[in-house]
Amino acid sequence: MRNGSLKLSKYSIGTGDRFAHQAKAQLQACMQALDSGIEVVPVWNKSNREHTIIGSEPASVREAADAAVKALDWKLPYFCDADHITLQTVGRFLDSCDFYTIDVADFIGQPAAPDAIDQFVARHRELPGRIQLEGTDEAFEITPESLRKTAQKYLTAVGKAGEVYRTILHSKGEGNFISEVSMDETDGAQSPIELLIILAAIADEGIRVQTIAPRFTGRFNKGVDYVGDVPQFEQEIALDVAAIAHAVRQYGLPENLKLSVHSGSDKFSIYPAIHAVLKRFDAGVHLKTAGTTWLEELIGLAESGGDGLALAKEIYCEAFAHREQLCVPYAAVIDIDPAGLPSPDEVRGWTSEQYTSALRHVRGAAAYNSNVRQLLHVGFKVAAGMGRRYLDLLESNEAVIAKDVTENLYARHIAPVFLGRGALGGSPVAVEGKTASHAF
Ligand SMILES: [Zn+2]
Repeated sequence: MRNGSLKLSKYSIGTGDRFAHQAKAQLQACMQALDSGIEVVPVWNKSNREHTIIGSEPASVREAADAAVKALDWKLPYFCDADHITLQTVGRFLDSCDFYTIDVADFIGQPAAPDAIDQFVARHRELPGRIQLEGTDEAFEITPESLRKTAQKYLTAVGKAGEVYRTILHSKGEGNFISEVSMDETDGAQSPIELLIILAAIADEGIRVQTIAPRFTGRFNKGVDYVGDVPQFEQEIALDVAAIAHAVRQYGLPENLKLSVHSGSDKFSIYPAIHAVLKRFDAGVHLKTAGTTWLEELIGLAESGGDGLALAKEIYCEAFAHREQLCVPYAAVIDIDPAGLPSPDEVRGWTSEQYTSALRHVRGAAAYNSNVRQLLHVGFKVAAGMGRRYLDLLESNEAVIAKDVTENLYARHIAPVFLGRGALGGSPVAVEGKTASHAF
């Protein structure tokens, strides 16, 4: 087994490509970032849930990524992420992925064995007491009781992450993959101090974690904006970043360890806060977006008119008819108001402009409809069921769709987060140096 030393760059963007047709257009967004003077490395993520709904295999993600990289002559690293995998699902991803998001959310709160807690507490005499995180004004007090409580809540989950990690390690060899531990798909947010304690446990497990995805406060619904208190979020991620830096020094974790923000896409209102924190701490971030590229495919089809528009309408009507079933797997991460959904009859009468302006996420735009956007976001199963009919139209309208995909990823996500530039069509994002109007 080759002994590599794969390392994730400071800035990276996770992007989904449900139908494996847009990797080139997505990579083009990273090329644009490079032209703007910043290296943002692409990571193509696809979960087992998505593969199962679409009927695809992880190898298809690898093939699409490799082909895009070759076509555009991309010289920087790139990765394929087995997104949200567990011990049950990791197997099918071992050949084609080199990035693993180990999801342990289901095990959070399963009480750890008293022995394991005792050992953890005995091993970490440095934790109880007052902790001042470098670069912040806040000091935290960890009591012996709060340490035991946190250990009890998280040690089982971290142990599970260790099992998955060692499965991958055994198959791929040290240094030949990037590992992330994710805890975002759970109800309660982890505090920065919990994050520090979790990282101590991750180090004990021997997991060479390069990204960690906590659950933040606020709602991260798929494909729509953040719902929550933005200044509080900024304060929280600043402390998370400081806690990570502390853990790297204290526990010898990989020095490039950074936060992974599972954004669910389109969290435009917190992008300036993320950018401000990156600047303040000179920190990196992995911004994981959801499969909203698929919505750009629909926008491009609708924009193209004719058969493309007709198919985009048909998909809406089908998704509307089956909305309850489609929403089930995503119930925790969508909020659709059924009364806000236009009827299929109404949508059948829409022009290209009406369809695209309802779906395109432009903050403050009168025609934008977040209910339509969320329904179509989970409606990719309808398109998957159309098979070649859908793919043929993607191919015959490639130019229009590719332009939408690239522009969306670059202007709405990469530019505001990594360059601190205003998002397309949204309310203005403060320029660098003027973002400090938040909590600090
Ligand atoms: Zn996630």
